[in-house]
Amino acid sequence: MTIRIALSKGRIFEETAPLLKAAGIVVAEDPEVSRKLIIPTNRGDVSVIIVRASDVPTYVQYGAADLGVAGKDVLLEHGGTGLYQPLDLDIAKCRMMVAVPERFDYESAVRRGARLRVATKYLNTAREHFAAKGVHVDLIKLYGSMELAPLVGLADAIVDLVSSGNTLRANQLKAVEEIMPISARLIVNQAALKLKRGEIQPVIDAFRKAALREPA
Ligand code: ATP
Ligand code: MG
Repeated sequence: MTIRIALSKGRIFEETAPLLKAAGIVVAEDPEVSRKLIIPTNRGDVSVIIVRASDVPTYVQYGAADLGVAGKDVLLEHGGTGLYQPLDLDIAKCRMMVAVPERFDYESAVRRGARLRVATKYLNTAREHFAAKGVHVDLIKLYGSMELAPLVGLADAIVDLVSSGNTLRANQLKAVEEIMPISARLIVNQAALKLKRGEIQPVIDAFRKAALREPA
């Protein structure tokens, strides 16, 4: 039986490739260069498919891929239905943050009970965060470049991923609250795990060893 692994280009692919290699799987082409969406590996029975980061859980949920690697940010928005999440790979790390313009007094707006307009790609995460704080928000769904929204009057605040903070600084924004730390997880289709355990379990075990940096 063959197994298919869903990955996204960029940091997820770059940081997963060494884990795959530790599992004896070498991806034959670089997805940044190749236009191929199905990439073979050194193992005839394993291929990698390249999809948008937010589409990885969908491919795995429906069994179009047996395994995948997705950020916790993406999994929280997807909901995780039908997915077994055996491992935090501790890669692609960043933080989910609330950010506002440098001159905006977020604490006092919250204390006053002001209603905030918040732009984000992460509606579920943002909704839960502000509900738990008892802050009233109008959420505005965006698909990218959230940092722009407060600069042009679309929103008072954003909820976004932050790693270095350079993008925030370059746009005169400041992080005011951490919602949660984020890292990427291995996800597995539950039915595939039962039907192809002989093929999939060794890959999970090798990922676990590599992610924990244990000797193989
Ligand atoms: P797309 O670029 O396809 O719109 P995306 O921006 O979510 O989607 P990437 O930028 O490749 O895709 O990010 C993939 C994952 O990497 C994110 O889901 C997140 O878990 C993680 N990540 C780590 N650091 C950052 C960061 N600074 N900004 C965004 N994502 C990050
Ligand atoms: Mg991106």
